[in-house]
Amino acid sequence: MPLSHGRPYLAIPGPSVIPDRVLQAMHRPAPAIHGGALVDLVDSLVPDLKAVARTQGKVAMYIANGHGAWEAAIANACARGDKVLALATGRFGHGWAETARQMGVDVEVMDFGRQAPVDPDRLADRLAQDRTHQIRAVVVCHVDTATSVRNDIAGLRAVLDASGHPALFMVDCIASLACDRFEMDAWGADVMVAACQKGLMVPPGMAFVYFNERGEAARARSDMATQYWDWRLRADPEEFYQYFCGTAPTHHLYGLRTALDMLVHEEGIEAAWARHERLARAVWAALAVWGMDGPMQHNIADPACRSHAVSAIRIGAPHGTALRDWLSEVAGVTLGVGLGMAAPGDPAWHGFFRIGHMGHVNAHMILGALGTIEAGLIALDLPHGKGALEAAAAVVAGH
Ligand SMILES: *Cc1c(COP(=O)(O)O)cnc(C)c1O
Repeated sequence: MPLSHGRPYLAIPGPSVIPDRVLQAMHRPAPAIHGGALVDLVDSLVPDLKAVARTQGKVAMYIANGHGAWEAAIANACARGDKVLALATGRFGHGWAETARQMGVDVEVMDFGRQAPVDPDRLADRLAQDRTHQIRAVVVCHVDTATSVRNDIAGLRAVLDASGHPALFMVDCIASLACDRFEMDAWGADVMVAACQKGLMVPPGMAFVYFNERGEAARARSDMATQYWDWRLRADPEEFYQYFCGTAPTHHLYGLRTALDMLVHEEGIEAAWARHERLARAVWAALAVWGMDGPMQHNIADPACRSHAVSAIRIGAPHGTALRDWLSEVAGVTLGVGLGMAAPGDPAWHGFFRIGHMGHVNAHMILGALGTIEAGLIALDLPHGKGALEAAAAVVAGH
């Protein structure tokens, strides 16, 4: 019997749940785009975007998704033929590497598999071999959304520093920004990419590239940024239209203004990080109990290396797909597919799912999602340990 009529919950790792206030802020006639209120509104976004990333550096805004941010960062920070070292811990790390390769960059991928973070010792060894400093940039995902691994960005910066290597350090925070703690300046990221549809709670359509002085220096020798992708005018516009190299994404800007009000000025970024951590721990507590008597397992064994924004789960084929189908048809909850864990077409592809717990989510939504997963396990007669919801509730209760 379908029990899905009611408010649906898209529990995938982006697009995330959009607050009604954000949607309402976007529901308005188009504003003028060469003066007036919109100009002040866009100016006001910049300091809040920097606050979310904990940086005094610059930020360029684009009408794009995360793939656009990847391309923008490479276009400005690299030159054709540059050697870039990509540290891959899942599908998205490989994706950024592939983007750079297509643009004419000489990409070397170090693959750390699908169940572990970057190994700092392997990075240190590779940098030590590069005595003539051929590697121009090191790129890495803070959180790889496919595997839900979280890399230690400050730790990787320390490896670069200890080896005396001058490579630019470029970080993808598309999944993690405003969910997992990220301190761009304190942790020493030179370039950082993000998008609006995950932790920032805005419909897909805006992307951000942050950069510090080292990023600016790299821009000076880059030969790939066309007028459209050039981050210089976007970050330091002399005229309003230069923010977006043309028409501004008018309605997204109103949505983003409201989302940043909620995150930066109402909840506070520290509190948002803490909320994500607590809710993630509730998910992990449920998974640990289910896994005591059944096939379910968090993809990343060590909780210290897990993202607070998304959980990738191994459950064995075909149970991942069966569970996702049951939840969407009967319970009104859509879970994420396993991405890059097995090739589409391979039966093993059906052995994974992901829960997005990023952005505008609270305790009742997470406990609701977990409760419906438990109902799905019962309905599908999948073995699972008993007491998962109690364990999740205890985490929510602060025990
Ligand atoms: C979502 C995501 C991307 C891709 O973003 P799109 O908006 O789908 O292009 C890239 N990297 C990470 C870590 C992501 O989570």
